[in-house]
Amino acid sequence: MLNLVLFGPPGAGKGTQSQKLIEKYQLVHLSTGDILRNEIANGTELGLEAKKLMDQGVLVPDEVVIGMISNKLDANKDARGFIFDGFPRTVAQAEALDILLASKQTAISGMIALNVNDAELEKRLLLRGKDSGRPDDADPAIIRRRIEEYNNKTAPVANYYKSQGKYVGINGIGSIDEIFTEICNVVDKF
Ligand code: AMP
Repeated sequence: MLNLVLFGPPGAGKGTQSQKLIEKYQLVHLSTGDILRNEIANGTELGLEAKKLMDQGVLVPDEVVIGMISNKLDANKDARGFIFDGFPRTVAQAEALDILLASKQTAISGMIALNVNDAELEKRLLLRGKDSGRPDDADPAIIRRRIEEYNNKTAPVANYYKSQGKYVGINGIGSIDEIFTEICNVVDKF
């Protein structure tokens, strides 16, 4: 199986690149942000609870997202592999993911990190907010909070994969196609 973690701060281009990767490599896309927004759209209890946190730009609890990922892995038993987008976002989530995958006799093939500086991220997210309709993209203070959460809680996840020899960093600034080509060059070596 090919199991990729696409990593990077909010606005780095993970969603855009995931779409291209799932097509090329026939993988199942697991975005915890998308799953949570789907729960909100369906008005579930989980969605209502998560929305309060998402609207403030802070992470939802580990056990909530780990449970969601576990369900999706069970629901896609025949997958050729997965792209994890926006997950894991804490070291606890990364540890839980390793355990879940090991129980299915598989593992993470590698992490690809898209590196983009904070000023560029703020610019991209404000631009995206104009048509994404996402409340957390509309307010500069919330955007900064999300980037802060990333720097405090999520950035350490890179070290987790570095220590396993599975981390590859890529420049996330450039055209979508240029970045995609670079990612594919890396994935083809996993
Ligand atoms: P995203 O679409 O990945 O930018 O996620 C939007 C929001 O959903 C985040 O700001 C968090 O509040 C929440 N979220 C998404 N994925 C996770 C995760 N793996 N762990 C905790 N919170 C998450």
